[in-house]
Amino acid sequence: MRKVLGRGKYDEFMADALAGNSSPTTWEYSPAPETVPVVIPDQTQLYVGGKFVEPRSKKWFATINPATEVTLSQIADGDASDVDAAVSAARKALKPWEKLPASERAKYLYRIARRIQERARELAILESMDGGKPIKESRDVDIPLAAQHFFHHAGWCDKLRYAMPGTREPRPVGVCGQIIPWNFPLLMAAWKLAPALACGNTVVLKPAETTSLTAMRLAEILQECELPPGVVNIVTGAGATGKALVDHAGVDKIAFTGSTEVGKQIAKACAARGTRLTLELGGKSANIIFADAAIDQAIEGIVQGIWFNQGHVCCAGSRLFVEESILPEVTRKLEMRMKTLRVGDPLDKNTDIGAINSKQQLTIIERYIAAGSNEGCTVWQPSEQALPAKGYWCRPTFMTGVQPAHIVAREEIFGPVLAVMSFRTPEEAISRANNSPYGLAAGIWTEKGSKMFDVARRLQAGVVWCNTYNQFDATSPFGGFKESGFGREGGMQGLAAYLSE
Ligand code: NAD
Repeated sequence: MRKVLGRGKYDEFMADALAGNSSPTTWEYSPAPETVPVVIPDQTQLYVGGKFVEPRSKKWFATINPATEVTLSQIADGDASDVDAAVSAARKALKPWEKLPASERAKYLYRIARRIQERARELAILESMDGGKPIKESRDVDIPLAAQHFFHHAGWCDKLRYAMPGTREPRPVGVCGQIIPWNFPLLMAAWKLAPALACGNTVVLKPAETTSLTAMRLAEILQECELPPGVVNIVTGAGATGKALVDHAGVDKIAFTGSTEVGKQIAKACAARGTRLTLELGGKSANIIFADAAIDQAIEGIVQGIWFNQGHVCCAGSRLFVEESILPEVTRKLEMRMKTLRVGDPLDKNTDIGAINSKQQLTIIERYIAAGSNEGCTVWQPSEQALPAKGYWCRPTFMTGVQPAHIVAREEIFGPVLAVMSFRTPEEAISRANNSPYGLAAGIWTEKGSKMFDVARRLQAGVVWCNTYNQFDATSPFGGFKESGFGREGGMQGLAAYLSE
């Protein structure tokens, strides 16, 4: 059974599905006034050697809409034999893909970028349904940036010698295993695939288990663009599938984005076999507000830094350092601004904060809020707005009275929870900001250019934003220090990881 839904029919249909009166798994959603049918299959397949195939494991698992708890589809659970088939397909495709004239490779990347743009509305809706993020973010950030990554890297295909000065003919690394998380599903796939393909590599991609739907839609796009079979293979599954990819002897390079804990395990496995590796891991980034900053602008930067994508952002500005003299003003304004944020239906274009990606992640976030409260922090949360009865929700939250030793100041929460601390001098701000096992990103808010450059230079962070936060662009390298990983994605630096020395 397949239904086409107008915007107003959505709740009705969901109520129907929840009551067991209709199939929740195969349906179409079309927001008025345009009709954008989003067809979700009952079950997905793997994409291996240019074909959609059943998993050899013959196993599937459910992916749900975290805003409704309704099952959207059954996702193929690839096992080691599926990974093996995908690696073989990637190996077979490597030579012809590498030998293709660079300008021809570029044409495929341009085609993929354009097709993502053409199917952008459908991809945005699917991303919000599967992952819980507000549609305005999927529509304005995730999908356009995914297309931008393919456009940007298409332009690099025939200019790679400039990325590797001194090399006449840069060569690809080979077969790349790429493992991505659930917070920016399609965008992370684009970050990984575009540079790898531009450099002539072939790929086996493993999406995150809670958000595989847009990756499989991307597989359709690759097929539509007639990308040669085996150049990209997509094997869905959970941690065991990722592990099988990491452990496969036929993989020349692993690129991983995810938790520091899993990153460390992968680093050990790759070191043992001498497999090349780049790691994009967790963070606990500092957002520093000086008293001379444009305060209202900085408040928007704080909001963007911690509440964008429900705080499921590796570089979230989750530690706020405020110069002591303006702490009361910042706290008051932040509380006021927080109350204006709308939490709810990710498919509503007015929603600011969508659903938490999974029940498991919600439990983790709630534990951290309780830990902060137990350690004596004051928890600020707007309570006026009712939350939907079904789904996984967390109101925007900030905590004051936080000490650097508190758990909420040290550990990555990966949710919409901000730890607010103060400082007296730039020296103190820098040393507190650097007092973290992570080193992914930071923000500085000041009207003084000299202070901006001085502080930015001394912060141990891969990315430092000044008077802005969470800005991404394919031309800028992104990556971390310390436990936030190594290697860069984006820019010329991102290409080097996919070229052999
Ligand atoms: P996760 O490490 O649990 O999972 C990430 C991916 O790794 C998933 O596809 C998962 O299936 C797979 N995986 C799990 N166990 C594995 C194993 N043993 N071997 C191989 N693969 C395995 O992380 P998550 O919860 O999905 O994502 C959240 C984390 O990702 C956060 O810590 C966040 O900071 C980090 N992250 C970092 C960046 C960055 O660029 N630095 C970007 C986004 C997310």
